[in-house]
Parts: sequence; structure tokens; C-alpha cells
Amino acid sequence: MTVQRRSSVFGKLATIMAVMMVLLMLITTGFFVLLVQPTLHGEMDPATAHLWLLGLSLSLLLGVVFTTQRVLEKLLRPLRHLNDGVTRLGEGDLAVNVPQTTRDEFGTLTAAFNRMAARVREMIVTRDQLLIDVSHELRSPLTRMKVALELMPDNEQKARLATDVAEMERMISGLLELERLRAGKGVTLVRRDIVPIVREVAASYANRAPGVELALDGVSEVVLDVDAEQLRTVMRNLLENAVKYSLPDSRAIRVSVSRKNGGAVVRVTDDGVGIPAEDAERIFEPFFRVDRSRSKESGGYGLGLSICKRVMEAHGGSITLQRSNGRGSTFVVAFPIAGQ
Ligand code: ADP
Repeated sequence: MTVQRRSSVFGKLATIMAVMMVLLMLITTGFFVLLVQPTLHGEMDPATAHLWLLGLSLSLLLGVVFTTQRVLEKLLRPLRHLNDGVTRLGEGDLAVNVPQTTRDEFGTLTAAFNRMAARVREMIVTRDQLLIDVSHELRSPLTRMKVALELMPDNEQKARLATDVAEMERMISGLLELERLRAGKGVTLVRRDIVPIVREVAASYANRAPGVELALDGVSEVVLDVDAEQLRTVMRNLLENAVKYSLPDSRAIRVSVSRKNGGAVVRVTDDGVGIPAEDAERIFEPFFRVDRSRSKESGGYGLGLSICKRVMEAHGGSITLQRSNGRGSTFVVAFPIAGQ
């Protein structure tokens, strides 16, 4: 059995202090021999000795400050790596792995952190796989239920069952779509003008309250590498939400297209209930709903925005929320320049 020699941060600090003390003793002796003794024996003029003393003390002080800073920087480097790791994990980067460079307490802490991150990763992968397996397995019984429903006499119970089956189907296809997008499939990029697509989807919501206002700001054509069908899905999800969460007295939903850094930005702004600050980071997570009872009433499962996020990532772009303190929200969809 090999016994791993562990070092301790406190041990290292004690060593540094001991080395400093020995150095201090040596330097004091040096001062005595080089300056004090010659002055006492009249071999050196006191003013010169004083100057030497000042100069040497200043150099010594600077040397100590510089060395301490370098030593502490090196000693605390693992803590900085760990801090970066914690920040990245907090931002949702599950692939984080902090390099373990020491075998002291910081090393132990780093190893524990890496084990924890790996466990979280494993749990999430297992959860996702379970969801996908269940979704696949549910497809056949759902098809059988739909066939059985066709054979039932038309009545209120049949209508209710049909609504439930349709809801389950929507949820399952949403989940499977999310998985397809994550696996890097489901998006085929073709160079095309996005303005007609945005215009067409916006027009299909024009007759639903509170209405849609399209602002092209002089932009007549924006050619990008996009999957037209997936762009329609993103636009529909955003407009559907904007309509769903608008209030009776809300202003019309505003859809704008503008150019940015060679790419484009599409903004969907509503004047609805708004999104609380504490939920702003989580709304793109699958199954996250701000108010579960409210969302259930409006028929949502919290999958729409996570699908939008995956679609935009597959385009090399992004989707973000700009919330306002009060009513209304703006979703900002950014596409990179074509050919990037
Ligand atoms: P859902 O199908 O439940 O609407 P989404 O993923 O599209 O799922 O949205 C997640 C949650 O974010 C919603 O349940 C809702 O609470 C909130 N949300 C999304 N868009 C808006 C919006 N425009 N205004 C207010 N809340 C919104």
C-alpha cells in the first residue's frame, strides 16, 4: 500500500514564517557586523551608517512585500481555480473540472468539488435519459388510446379524454424535440432572408389580442444561415407566450428586426404580466414555469422557451430575456453573421 504524503496549508504558512524569522536573524546579524560594529570602532562615520541602514531597511522591506505577495499568490492559486469552478457551475456549466494542483486542504477541497460536479452531471444525465425513455415508451400506448377513442361514441367524456390525450402528445413531442436538438440534430441551416419568415409569423398573430406591430426599422432583407422551420417555431413560441401572458389592457406586441455585428437581432416585446427577477435565469430550463397554476390554466408545460434556447444554440446564436420592473418582457433573439 502506498501512503500518500499530504501537506497542509497551515504547515506551509508555518514554514514560510520560520524561513522569514531565520532570514530576519541573519539580516540583523549582517547589519550588526557590517554597520554597527564599524561605527562603534570609529571605522565608519555615523551619518553614512545611517544612510546605509535606511537604504538596506527599505530594500529589505520591499523584498519582503514582493516575496510574500508571490508566495501567497502561489499558495492561494488553487482557491482561485476553485472560485472559478464554483462560478461556472453556478452558471450551469456542468462540464466544469477544477485542476487539482496541490495535496493540501485546497487539493482535498478541489477533489471534493470535482466529485460533487461529476455527481450532479451524472444525476442530470440519468434524469434526462429517464425522461426520454419514458417519452418513447409512452408513444405506443398513446397511439392505442387514440385508436380506441375513435371507436368511442361521441360524448362529453370522449371530448375530455381526447383533450387529455392531445395534451400528453404535445408534451411528449416537445420532450423528444428537445432531445433531438440537444443531440445536435433537428437543425438544417440554409442561407436565406429571415425578414419574410418573421413577417409571416407575426401576421398570423395579428388578429389575436392584443395584436402585433412589426417594426423593421428600415431593414428590408437580412440574409443569414437559418433553419426556417425552427425559426418559425421560435417566433411562434415567443408570440404565443406574449399573447398568453398579455393583460386585457396591454399594448400590442412589438416584433422588431435589426442588424447587429453582421448578424441580426429579433426582439419580441409584450406589455403583459412580466417575469419576476428571481425567475429570469430559470425560464429557459425545461419544465420551469413562473406560476404553475397560472401556466397550467394557460396550457403550458414550460418546454417552449427551452426549445427556443436549444434552437438558437444550434444556430450559434442566443436568446435572452430583458425584463422590466413592472409589466412586460422583451425576448432578444440574436443570430450570428452568415458563414460563421
Ligand atoms: P409555457 O409553455 O409554460 O409557456 P415556456 O417555456 O414557453 O412554457 O415559458 C416558461 C414560463 O415562462 C411560462 O410558464 C411563463 O410563466 C413564463 N413566461 C414565458 N414567456 C412569458 C411572457 N412573455 N410573459 C410572462 N411570462 C412568461
